[in-house]
Amino acid sequence: MAQEQNNFRDSIGTINEEGKRAWVFPKKPKGRFYKYRKYVSYFLLTFLLLAPFLKINGNQFLMFNVLERRFNIFGFPFWPQDFYLFVISMIIGVVFIALFTVAFGRIFCGWLCPQTIFMEMVFRRIEYWIDGDRGAQIRLDKQEWNAEKIRKRVLKWFIFFIISFIIANVFLAYLIGSDRLIKYIADGPMQHLSTMVSLLIFTGVFYFVFAWFREQVCIIACPYGRMQGVLLDNKSIVVAYDHKRGEAEKGRKKFRKGEDRAAIGHGDCIDCFQCVNVCPTGIDIRNGTQLECINCTACIDACDEIMEKVDLPKGLIRYASEDNIEKKAKFKFTPRLKGYTAVLIILTGILIGMLFLRNDLEANILRLPGQLYEHKEGNIISNVYTFKVVNKTTRDIPDVTFKLLSHKGTISLVRNDNFTVPAQELTEGTLFIEINNAALDGDKNTVKIGVFSGEEQIETTSARFMAPRSYR
Ligand code: SF4
Ligand code: SF4
Repeated sequence: MAQEQNNFRDSIGTINEEGKRAWVFPKKPKGRFYKYRKYVSYFLLTFLLLAPFLKINGNQFLMFNVLERRFNIFGFPFWPQDFYLFVISMIIGVVFIALFTVAFGRIFCGWLCPQTIFMEMVFRRIEYWIDGDRGAQIRLDKQEWNAEKIRKRVLKWFIFFIISFIIANVFLAYLIGSDRLIKYIADGPMQHLSTMVSLLIFTGVFYFVFAWFREQVCIIACPYGRMQGVLLDNKSIVVAYDHKRGEAEKGRKKFRKGEDRAAIGHGDCIDCFQCVNVCPTGIDIRNGTQLECINCTACIDACDEIMEKVDLPKGLIRYASEDNIEKKAKFKFTPRLKGYTAVLIILTGILIGMLFLRNDLEANILRLPGQLYEHKEGNIISNVYTFKVVNKTTRDIPDVTFKLLSHKGTISLVRNDNFTVPAQELTEGTLFIEINNAALDGDKNTVKIGVFSGEEQIETTSARFMAPRSYR
């Protein structure tokens, strides 16, 4: 018996005894939490689909252009030069999720993760609509390939493909920017064949994930899911079965009308398996917290409905910590949580500080590799440089010039001495700095250079200036 009860430890619910995929046919959830999750998912789906098409000050609201290393977060553009800010934002995101996991388990997976939202709130609902609920789905799966099955399967797979194609387009809008995506669509696929191929590959990946791979993403592939073992402890609030109440002294038992279960020592669990049937990852939450559980709350709703029917108090499965179930302990702000919160506050402070210190324009001036100085007439030393000026704003910066701040001398550009840096663009070129050797201090000097737009100084940068050693 004990061996049987522990079998769940040896395999995952989605693999059968022969080691093949055991397809999960979860019962359609209904209840209080499912209703709230639907509201949250409507909001998130709208956000997810619109975010790359919304603009703030001309900047795409969210963009993750990894190819060009340009990112917009909440309308705030990050350039390759701002990569440290992006990294800090990502670290804050990870600490934030870790903090929430320590306190509230996989709340992110059940309520916010795009995989769960698309799987449970889009694809699964289409499946219920076409194939019917759990029983009908199992019947359809076992039935011969007749006209009904072909019709239902073709319709479902076609709709899944269309939705995967839409998701792939939105994904591309996040990657290359919505303006470029719209332009490519207007130009036609033949003009941008490589992008079209990428789009079809993304579509194929999304289709594979949502039509076939499904809960395996959360169980096998997702690194966040695998971290639960180190993040959760007895104080973490997770979707949990109250085994004290459910099992009592003599364990769970089928329901019999009029029976006084408490008097005969049986727990409140009537072993109806509704919590198992409704689970999208195919587990039995009564075996305790498991890696496969995505905290989707479907078993809470299913059990509450049963408890209501058999006239027992709801909450046999509920949000609770192990300590809450075992010792009736209330939620506590533990030292571990305090530590995570402190790190989170410090990192957020650093990020805000860096955002305020960040310039709208960034200039880099570097000596041309492999070039020495040139000694010119009148004891003038000349060094040649390449420069890069990045305009991070959405307006053009006109009449840009360089002036030496630390030394007397001249800066001349190979082309025009003043230029315009277009909005969100990078301008690069070559320039010469010439300084009288008498004003230099040895062979290695650092010169300070001001970047001006008209008369206004908008950035300061510096560069190395080489001079002859013998003239020191
Ligand atoms: S055990 Fe419950 S909360 Fe966890 S995945 Fe299954 S149904 Fe969702
Ligand atoms: S739904 Fe509730 S009563 Fe039914 S098996 Fe699950 S825990 Fe027991």
